[in-house]
Amino acid sequence: MRELEIYIHFPFCARKCAYCDFCSFDSLSETERERYVTALVNEISAFADTARDRAVRSVFFGGGTPSLLIENQLTEIFSALSHYNILSDAEISMEINPKTVDREKLEFIRGCGVNRLSIGMQSANDSELFMLGRLHNREDFLTCYHLAREVGFDNINVDIMTALPGQSISELEKTLDFTVSLKPEHISAYILKIEENTPFAKRKIATPDEELTADMYLYTCERLKNAGYSHYEISNFARDGYRCLHNMGYWQGADYLGFGVSASSLFEGKRYTHTRNFYEYIDFSDGKKTADDYINCEEITENEGESDEKYEYIMLSLRLSDGILLERANELFGFDFYLHFKDIIDRTVKAGLATLDGGRYFLTDRGMCVSSSVICEFLLRMS
Ligand code: SF4
Repeated sequence: MRELEIYIHFPFCARKCAYCDFCSFDSLSETERERYVTALVNEISAFADTARDRAVRSVFFGGGTPSLLIENQLTEIFSALSHYNILSDAEISMEINPKTVDREKLEFIRGCGVNRLSIGMQSANDSELFMLGRLHNREDFLTCYHLAREVGFDNINVDIMTALPGQSISELEKTLDFTVSLKPEHISAYILKIEENTPFAKRKIATPDEELTADMYLYTCERLKNAGYSHYEISNFARDGYRCLHNMGYWQGADYLGFGVSASSLFEGKRYTHTRNFYEYIDFSDGKKTADDYINCEEITENEGESDEKYEYIMLSLRLSDGILLERANELFGFDFYLHFKDIIDRTVKAGLATLDGGRYFLTDRGMCVSSSVICEFLLRMS
């Protein structure tokens, strides 16, 4: 049976963070949230038949803040998911915000079958958290983390952010030390980017310059590797056996269905993304639509056409420490990949940005720091 991943988007937040441009809203009423959950359940149900011959190996509840869902809403969603062939060892992940859960909620989430939590900590420094507009402080995070362990979560990711406005390497070091002292199974470390139309962009907030940002990235890689985490993707670090299955599937080009407003899918060779307009989505998803209606409706879905396997292979593989497997690339491209891209490969290896070893071409930490420009060189050569 072919495998499938499922992503479910919850666009609710208790308050918008100052840097956030994700599709999430902090002003929706309880009634609007209820309507959204109904629309979501309608979409999940519409695809159950289409996906009946697929084995679901991961489900990811992302947002927004999925942990704001109340118990009966979670029950409805899991009931809609019960019509899929979810593998018994599937990874079921949920993003949570420390301020939105207590012991009872965590127990309920675990009882629903969620077996991996991703906790948005971002920083261990209260003044940085305040500046980011986060709801929680370091103590709130710690309480949430320990509660999650106590109720039995043995697979936890902690999200942190680097290159924060005014941040120094020694402040970052404190956040990293604090994080590794808790021994989470997985750490995601993202570089803050100021996105258009966010409060940070409007206030023209400056982040550390390129050189300091790169130093922070390399410092993070080094510190986490020394603490026993393998750096398996640009921003992701895991203990042995704890790579995020959902993300790995995405980077390896697996099929996934994204449900909800703004969610993207790659299904049967087609890529499409739903509208970011909350009301368009809930009005459309009225319980009468088929899977094809969701895929083909211009009103709510932007079709991005056939996926281009060769472009995607380069873009996604170079994000991963596994890199490009030359044998696989030779087959996919129909020519000798190394000879064709020899000058780029040799130059990046000589510059210390990449390594060519054991039939793999992969980026070093320094290469991952400038991955976009390395990937661009390959893509430009192909166009
Ligand atoms: S909690 Fe996450 S999704 Fe919500 S506003 Fe903050 S960064 Fe955005």
